[in-house]
Amino acid sequence: MRRCPRVATFLVSGMAAVKGGHVSERPELYGRPWRDSERWRALLSGEACDLCGDHKPPEVVVIAEMGASRLTTEEGAPFRGYCCLVLNRHAVELHDLEQEEAALLMDDMRRTSRALQEVTGAVKINVDIHGNTMPHLHAHFLPRYVGDPYEEGPIDFRRARDTAEFTYGPEVLRRFVEDLRTAIGAD
Ligand SMILES: [Zn+2]
Repeated sequence: MRRCPRVATFLVSGMAAVKGGHVSERPELYGRPWRDSERWRALLSGEACDLCGDHKPPEVVVIAEMGASRLTTEEGAPFRGYCCLVLNRHAVELHDLEQEEAALLMDDMRRTSRALQEVTGAVKINVDIHGNTMPHLHAHFLPRYVGDPYEEGPIDFRRARDTAEFTYGPEVLRRFVEDLRTAIGAD
């Protein structure tokens, strides 16, 4: 595994930014939209989709525009090195993609995974595709570390987001984004 020379700095400064007690200010991530058939239909069709078009929560940083998707992160990330790859157009399931688009997305995912491992020095890169509350195809990238709060098991994504066991300071986030852009080969 290739190691980014800045990994050590990233890890140390990242750990210093750990905090607890934060409550998410993004209520759209929660609720039970499956029980509201109108709402769920509008989310599935893209009509009420927050990930479509130019709408972007102000805290979200676009790291790179890729072949079929855009790579994003945010200062209040649920996990150190967390990134989210969001499909450029509205689609819900992997099987909704045409062959060419699916191949492009897989290429985006592989490039992201490789770059993330290089920049974070993670022992494992987990990839989650859910879409339970926001059914616009997106993949969460969660680098895993020795001693992380979920070692040897799956990440409880909602707990991680609710408690913000990790968050970046602005300077650490800026360097992380810069390093990832370089590793991905983005402009
Ligand atoms: Zn959408």
